[in-house]
Amino acid sequence: MIYRPDYYDEFVCIADRCKNTCCARWEIDVDAVSMERFREHPDIMEHISDGCITLKEDGNCPFLNEKGLCKMILKYGEDMLCDVCTDHPRYISEVDEDEFIGVGISCEAACDLILNRKEQFKLIPPLQMPLIDRVFEAESVTELLNGLSPDESSSKEHAELLLTFEILEPEWKKMLHNLESSPVSEEDRDSYIDSLSMQFRNLIGYFLYRHDNDFYLAAVSARIIAELTIANNMTLEDVARMYSAEIEYSDINCDLL
Ligand code: SF4
Repeated sequence: MIYRPDYYDEFVCIADRCKNTCCARWEIDVDAVSMERFREHPDIMEHISDGCITLKEDGNCPFLNEKGLCKMILKYGEDMLCDVCTDHPRYISEVDEDEFIGVGISCEAACDLILNRKEQFKLIPPLQMPLIDRVFEAESVTELLNGLSPDESSSKEHAELLLTFEILEPEWKKMLHNLESSPVSEEDRDSYIDSLSMQFRNLIGYFLYRHDNDFYLAAVSARIIAELTIANNMTLEDVARMYSAEIEYSDINCDLL
């Protein structure tokens, strides 16, 4: 069976209105079928090497124009895109015989859609999600987190640990150093989480859904995101988006966590 959250069908890329385009920084592997299509177009092939789209020196995709739109789509239509570009930010998590699809919060539009929901998401077709129900029904998010997955490390230790991980963005490293030098107390972090209770319920529900009910991963991720948000005086959405790009999209980092 294939399941999807009800918000999945609402996702729309905001393209030129996106302040954190995914058409930059990420390596774009071209699948074999798309490569066959690309071979007929020298203007595309000149930007391909070793099976990947070669990013420009500024880190942008060579097909991203100055208005934030994709030149490949503008010239050839969406069907010309390779699988990575067509699918992003969609993901599939496989559990036994089932597939759970969704959109990842490394994408600005998906992050906004998921974090700022006013009610618990449901699955299509319907499926019981007892652990996720507990997150949305709990009187206090932090009491539930601390009950099911007690806090094992200080915010300074979280920063130190993540600084040993693979790091994609210099900005992320700076944020971790800020947390390391200005640690956030457990009390301040928990009171911040409870003050944005619905956003954190949405965030934890997203991690649980995407990572096969891994409560430890969801709890430690929510805590680190809260600590980084406070230490860097940033918005929750911006930190969650960067955390997803740095940790969730790196299998090595997810395993290290
Ligand atoms: S990050 Fe999301 S909203 Fe922004 S360009 Fe990529 S898919 Fe579109």
